[in-house]
Amino acid sequence: MTTQSHTPHSATASASSAAEPTEAHTSAASTFHPNVDQAELDKFSALATRWWDPTTEFKPLHEINPLRLAWIIEQIDGGLIGKQVLDVGCGGGILTEAMAKAGAHVKGIDLADKSLKIAKLHSIESGVSVHYESISAEALAEREPGQFDVVTCMEMLEHVPDPSATVRACSQLVKPGGWVFFSTLNRNPKSFLFAIIGAEYVLRLLPRGTHRWQSFIKPSELSEAARLANLTTVCFKGMEYNPFNQRYSLSANTDVNYLMATRK
Ligand code: SAH
Repeated sequence: MTTQSHTPHSATASASSAAEPTEAHTSAASTFHPNVDQAELDKFSALATRWWDPTTEFKPLHEINPLRLAWIIEQIDGGLIGKQVLDVGCGGGILTEAMAKAGAHVKGIDLADKSLKIAKLHSIESGVSVHYESISAEALAEREPGQFDVVTCMEMLEHVPDPSATVRACSQLVKPGGWVFFSTLNRNPKSFLFAIIGAEYVLRLLPRGTHRWQSFIKPSELSEAARLANLTTVCFKGMEYNPFNQRYSLSANTDVNYLMATRK
């Protein structure tokens, strides 16, 4: 597999090199959000109207949602009831709304404005109270440090130029003793086969080009980025897809999709 010869993108890459805006990012708007890949945001904006249609490319997120929500609740003493929660890279609000329904006071942030519009409209329709804002994790961390009991950052790190900067921002946003949850994709030959070839080309669960294998993050890299950001890794959980019964499940296998729980 030729992909193995690619230089892997490290979650612990220095902020200075990885966060440098590329030529495409030198517009006035992105000057304030250096840790943004506009092409990635555009991909999600183009799909925004479909966030809440569980038959579309967002089907996997709808299917894993109850699993990841239950796992998050399991980790936290007293679950999510009454907790101040921030969902970073919330997209259309699939997890954001679910956490609000589970009793949390939730704020969702994203930089794809179309997705946020859909998220807002959907929360009105479903009568769930959620606050949405178009702001980067880094900018919110400057404005409201240490305000949240729980921060979630799911399926988002593999879409930013400098994941370690996002991890640092999440750490700044959570209260001491609070929880930060991440989920992303592991980087190894198996994840290339399953998450790129399998999911995008064979099973067509996701549109081609949804993910770049080079941007996947090994659990060891994510854990190191967390440690450098003063977060303690509590546990990992794998997430697996069974193409035969078309079901997702949580498992000990972190080879492809995985979640990581950390505490400040
Ligand atoms: N967290 C949601 C959506 C995952 S899709 C869920 O798991 O259900 C990835 C999301 O990250 C998209 O909504 C995309 O717009 C967002 N995103 C990508 N780069 C971002 C950035 N730099 N800042 C904020 N959000 C970003």
